[in-house]
Amino acid sequence: MDLGLTASELAFRDELRDWLRQSPPGPTPLEERASFDHRRAWDQRLHAGGWAGVHWPVEYGGRGATLVESAIYNEELARAAAPPPVNVIGLTLAGPTIMTHGDEAQRARFLPPILSAEEIWCQGFSEPGAGSDLAAVATRAHQVDGGWRITGQKVWTSFAHDAQWCLLLARSDPDAPRHKGLTYFLLDMAQDAVQVRPLRTISDTHELNEVFLEDAFVPDAHVLGGVGNGWRVAMTTLGNERSGLVFGKSFQARILLDRLTALADERGLLEDANVATRLGELHIRVEAVRLTAYRNVTSEMQSGQPGPEGSIIKWIWSETDQAITEYAVQLLGIEALDRDSPWAFELLRARGDTIESGTTEIIKNIVAEQVLGLPRLR
Ligand SMILES: Cc1cc2nc3c(=O)[nH]c(=O)nc-3n(C[C@H](O)[C@H](O)[C@H](O)COP(=O)(O)OP(=O)(O)OC[C@H]3O[C@@H](n4cnc5c(N)ncnc54)[C@H](O)[C@@H]3O)c2cc1C
Repeated sequence: MDLGLTASELAFRDELRDWLRQSPPGPTPLEERASFDHRRAWDQRLHAGGWAGVHWPVEYGGRGATLVESAIYNEELARAAAPPPVNVIGLTLAGPTIMTHGDEAQRARFLPPILSAEEIWCQGFSEPGAGSDLAAVATRAHQVDGGWRITGQKVWTSFAHDAQWCLLLARSDPDAPRHKGLTYFLLDMAQDAVQVRPLRTISDTHELNEVFLEDAFVPDAHVLGGVGNGWRVAMTTLGNERSGLVFGKSFQARILLDRLTALADERGLLEDANVATRLGELHIRVEAVRLTAYRNVTSEMQSGQPGPEGSIIKWIWSETDQAITEYAVQLLGIEALDRDSPWAFELLRARGDTIESGTTEIIKNIVAEQVLGLPRLR
């Protein structure tokens, strides 16, 4: 692993740094709606500046950034304290999945408004009876003239209340073996047959939803990757989720720790050796996450696709993020638990880190079986 940057990578970094200096993101408001608007406007500014979806191929409007350039991109955005993209599911999951499995018409229809953040996407995989065991999806798709009618329930659907489109996994053939009876649909959320109900979480925010489908319609043209191929297409989405999405998040941990360290410094708390030691330990953990992310880049460059090593980053990032937020509360005391404190939000939101995109237990199974080659229990 060579961590030095080439001349063209340095040029890429400097061009982005210049752009960010001239066009800084500004602080993200705490209030939910204002925060969404701010993040969407930021996504659109990135697009206007040619900096949205840098990892997408040039033919689809990206920059064709290499994996190392994508890592630089995430790091520079973290350095500028930019908010995470509001269309994160569109850019990281929907786009790459449509590029891999979509036909020309689907690519032309769906990719440009993802890049420009005009159309927000959500991911309709989990159900009350299908989370870790995704192949248990029971939402039912019936073929009708010209398309499909879909009935069932999804849960924990991030951004569904703001999304125009949903990556929907449903059972199209209940008689086929469970991994073979699934089909992947691109669902238009703007129909009465799709009802979105908010799920408020412990952080008292509206990020998650339940989605109820009652004969929702999807035309044949919006089946992705062919009828009965849903599992294969879903694996592309999950592969991108555990490498791409988590790569971005690992840099958010750096933003958070830097904020905490700056606050400790402002208040003279760094004079206390215990505080300095604890922050130093967290710094080392964040660096370990960053370097593991780079190691994953190296192996992805060699194999050409995201591998199970992406799961290791998800695992150590989620636990590090939780450790930072827990220490913030220990350090700042009761004020950090105030309803309006950003640290209270971070502490409570971080509880979901070890559940979303695969729970830590599932991730450990993947690492044991697919990275370490240990025997399967089942
Ligand atoms: C913040 C957040 C955002 C989310 N966003 C989305 C979204 O946008 N779209 C979407 O589709 N889903 C989303 N999810 C859902 C998420 O993918 C699921 O919650 C997750 O996959 C776990 O599924 P489950 O909740 O059904 O728990 P279960 O699968 O029922 O698991 C319950 C417990 O059993 C353990 N367990 C289960 N199976 C095993 C096993 N084989 N070995 C060891 N332990 C096991 C789990 O680790 C867990 O501790 C989100 C979740 C969160 C918290």
